[in-house]
Amino acid sequence: MNNDRSKDGALGHLIKHLAGLPGLGPRSARRAALHLVMRKDDILRPLAAALMEAAEKVQTCPNCRNLDDISPCRICQDTHRDQGLVCVVSGVSDLWAIERTGGYRGVYHVLGGILSALDGISIADLSLDLLKSRISDNPPREVILALPATVDGQATSHVVMDMLSETPIKTSRLAHGMPVGGELDYLDDGTILTAFRARG
Ligand code: ZN
Repeated sequence: MNNDRSKDGALGHLIKHLAGLPGLGPRSARRAALHLVMRKDDILRPLAAALMEAAEKVQTCPNCRNLDDISPCRICQDTHRDQGLVCVVSGVSDLWAIERTGGYRGVYHVLGGILSALDGISIADLSLDLLKSRISDNPPREVILALPATVDGQATSHVVMDMLSETPIKTSRLAHGMPVGGELDYLDDGTILTAFRARG
């Protein structure tokens, strides 16, 4: 514990909450907090309003587990998208990475993670039952597995493929799998698109 009095009270609370954000440690949280309180009108208040708006409006799509402020999400509601093509991703950040390429016009299913003995993530923690009921209600032509190219990602892909093996639905996997977590933002869109086109 340090007893820096500048971090007591409201400022202290702000720093504590900022330090809990991914990618921000205590030091960058202190810098961010100072920046915010010095720029109340043009940065802090609009940010506070955006946080409140997100807290009130952002919800999980009951159909695909994407995040949006309308329900079902914009992607599920988009009649120009191919509902016969379902891309299974681990998380919403992967969905965003694929959307950024602008080259995929199907819909998604967000699993909410991948199987991991290390992190204690089992089949019951993933939205597999939802996927199952979704495809039995409205069977797609193809399910594309865009999961990480790790041992856990591959194991998760196998579980989904097993689930679909009794159906006529075609399953495919991205040529190189999805990059893991933080690597996504460094990847150029062409790489993801190429992996999509080379799926098999
Ligand atoms: Zn949706």
